[in-house]
Amino acid sequence: MALERTLSIIKPDGVKRNLIGKIFTRFEESGLKVAAVKRVTLTRAQAEGFYAVHRERPFFASLVEYMTSGPVVISVLEGEGAIAKNREIMGATDPKKAAPGTIRALFAESIEANTVHGSDAPETAAFETRYFFNAFELL
Ligand code: ATP
Ligand code: MG
Repeated sequence: MALERTLSIIKPDGVKRNLIGKIFTRFEESGLKVAAVKRVTLTRAQAEGFYAVHRERPFFASLVEYMTSGPVVISVLEGEGAIAKNREIMGATDPKKAAPGTIRALFAESIEANTVHGSDAPETAAFETRYFFNAFELL
């Protein structure tokens, strides 16, 4: 397995409920390192650009509204097979379908307010990390 970097976002529902520490602990205890981190409130344009692949989906407007509704914590996670490992720790998009013990099974409020985002492939991980972090921050 290769050393990878992936983008993680603790979404507004997670930050609002003070779950940053609990979620980072799960990453760290699974062997992932937090290689970069920032807490920001996304603008509409930033959220629309980030989710551009979903712009034709029926939930797009609501998703953008939700993702700009409060602060988020954006991080880069690093480790062996970090992309798939993070997806495993997160659980399925819909918390009702998420495996027991995953972040979404434990904490998500709904299919939309599902507490975390994680890149789903090497290409999206590269795009998403550069979308939010500059070269100096990624050293
Ligand atoms: P993420 O990209 O946030 O890691 P994901 O890859 O599991 O999640 P996607 O299909 O990429 O899921 O959807 C992106 C996000 O859009 C979801 O995490 C969720 O917040 C929202 N979303 C997805 N499907 C729905 C839906 N049917 N209704 C409402 N919101 C949805
Ligand atoms: Mg996705």
